[in-house]
Amino acid sequence: MTEAAAYSVHDGIAVVTMNNPPVNGLGSVLRPGILAGIQRAEADPTVKALVLIGSPKAFSGGADIREFNTPKASQPPTLQDINRAQDAFPKPMIAAIGGFALGGGLELALACHYRVALPGAQLGLPEVKLGILPGAGGTQRLPRLLGAAKAIEMMTTGNPIRAEEARALGLVDEIVEGDLLEGAIAFAKRLLAEGKGPRRIRDMTVRVEGDPKQFFERARAEVAKRSRGYPAPLEIVGCVEAAASRPFDEGLAYERERFQYLVETVESKALRHMFFAERQTTKIPDVPEDTPTREIRTAAVVGAGTMGGGIAMCFANAGIPVTVVEANEAALERGMATIRANYAATVAKGRLAQEEMDRRMALIRPTLALADVAQADIVIEAVFERMDVKQDLFRRLDAIAKPGAILATNTSTLDVNAIAQATRRPEDVLGTHFFSPANVMRLLEVVRGARTAKDVLATTMKLAKRLGKVPVVSGVCDGFIGNRMLEKYVQQSLFLLEEGATPQQIDRALEGWGMAMGPFRMYDMAGNDIGWEIRKRRAKERPEMVYSKVADRICERGWFGQKAGRGWYRYEPGSRTPIPDPEVEALIAEHRREIGVAPRAIADEEIVERCIYALVNEGARILEEGIALRASDIDIVYLTGYGFPPYRGGPMFYADTVGLAKVLAAIERFRNGYQGGQWQVAPLLARLAAEGKRFNG
Ligand code: NAD
Repeated sequence: MTEAAAYSVHDGIAVVTMNNPPVNGLGSVLRPGILAGIQRAEADPTVKALVLIGSPKAFSGGADIREFNTPKASQPPTLQDINRAQDAFPKPMIAAIGGFALGGGLELALACHYRVALPGAQLGLPEVKLGILPGAGGTQRLPRLLGAAKAIEMMTTGNPIRAEEARALGLVDEIVEGDLLEGAIAFAKRLLAEGKGPRRIRDMTVRVEGDPKQFFERARAEVAKRSRGYPAPLEIVGCVEAAASRPFDEGLAYERERFQYLVETVESKALRHMFFAERQTTKIPDVPEDTPTREIRTAAVVGAGTMGGGIAMCFANAGIPVTVVEANEAALERGMATIRANYAATVAKGRLAQEEMDRRMALIRPTLALADVAQADIVIEAVFERMDVKQDLFRRLDAIAKPGAILATNTSTLDVNAIAQATRRPEDVLGTHFFSPANVMRLLEVVRGARTAKDVLATTMKLAKRLGKVPVVSGVCDGFIGNRMLEKYVQQSLFLLEEGATPQQIDRALEGWGMAMGPFRMYDMAGNDIGWEIRKRRAKERPEMVYSKVADRICERGWFGQKAGRGWYRYEPGSRTPIPDPEVEALIAEHRREIGVAPRAIADEEIVERCIYALVNEGARILEEGIALRASDIDIVYLTGYGFPPYRGGPMFYADTVGLAKVLAAIERFRNGYQGGQWQVAPLLARLAAEGKRFNG
């Protein structure tokens, strides 16, 4: 027996205690111990029942992610081997669930004969979130206990349920108040006193509402609607149908086959890539994990506009007191009113308690005096996007902020190093580029300046996690990772208009491919004036820049998007539904005449390739220049900040799946097309394609 699973006997009840921190992952160190415990209890005639237990905080989180994609994951005994021993166990076997039983952890509990749980424990089969299905009998056992409908819901959403609900559904037999082990042993003794023996889920039948054929047809249709682009949910329905219509062992074999199929799909590989990529972003090669960090107890935000207000909410949501500074009374009142209205809307939707809103509002302290930031451990600047304004502010912050305070800028386009130079402490300065709405979007680009101290970077990455963000390190450049790539995507989207496409065709093509929102709907939502301002400035800074003037024509008419009631589309008052606008099409046609372009029909495939490969090519440059630490960081930026479809794994992962030689060949083709001079192949892309390699290792 290994140390990871302890065996003891209490008054005739064997107890197998899993002890593989932090989550009792069912790795190669734990599985043999569980099996040995079951065998020992079976062989001992004085043992009358068995309790399988983890810690009060974790029954088991399922597969050990540290062994993912390693031979250890399938080293015998497998979870299926354990399940067979559980089914064959001749005495009652009880799972005692504290904390959570997720994935393989719940499958282990399902192969026990009874289940007891602590109040609030979470039970779920989240495999679908990684594009796979529960592969150790979950799809066969769960419906036998809960009925087909509830089992399909749980497994296709992947969302866990609480022990109380599980008790009501029959997934848990008893809620244990007090000590879990004592409660489980008492439960076992009661079973024995009542003469109850093993109760195998495999011997039960699946409850299906109404005619099974109609039920599964309906279930397939509903699930298909919710899971466009993802194969796993439909496969789960198929497995539940097998559970309902075939003998247990056949269903199990079918589940295994579909599991193997899903593991190899691009969609599942993409979702697993995303899962691991998200856990990589905080690893910075020259900033070790044990780098000492600074204490962040209080924060300040300067500027309470669109971004400042949202950033202040992030701190309040995390329980960190935050001072909000504005330039004048009216702006301060407006900013605070917006914050209050945002919280109130969440309260109205029933997603936040009024007391919680009050508690958060109380953490936000509005002021007009910059001197009030003196005690803040971090100050985040979110004022107008102008270098003179920002430098002036940082000069004043330098004089006011306490020594050791982190001074951060939320700039989207300005040189963080030049802002840092306005202070006498550039080592304390870095960029924190939030995405709008800042209190909602998970992405945070953490911009490392040339002189940013390592502990400042480490502290900010840690703080980002506290704020519920996914931090990605970016070097200093115009647009950082996300917006610098986006500029190329925008450029192509506008060239496509000039050549003959309409905004709605381009949006439809990219949304059909999986983007959460097509580019023109996105421009209208963000406000066309924002891009216009940036273009005007860049046109001065980079006179060589080539871009389509068609977007300027829209802005000159004041068609700034949703907020103006019209942009690339028309909007009815109070509605965000884009309505194609013949006047916009006429304006585009006029623009084509002006620049002498005869429109042509453009296939959706070309639209997608040009826009997405524009991201990929610029991503390759960003990687080569060291602006991003790794290809997967770029993928995370697009997955969490730009509505890139998770089942495609991010632009760099997507390019890997297409094959870099193919991506390169397409770009070479585009070089001979419209505005072909704008396509400069990134050297890294050319090199990796020639070597038959990938961006993501
Ligand atoms: P905004 O115009 O909505 O808000 C700026 C606020 O700063 C205004 O309320 C203004 O009164 C205040 N302000 C200006 N100078 C000040 C000073 N010296 N002291 C105190 N307050 C001052 O702008 P925003 O959209 O919130 O953008 C703020 C920053 O965030 C900019 O650098 C912008 O580039 C960046 N950013 C914006 C977005 C976005 O989507 N809006 C996204 C990421 C980053």
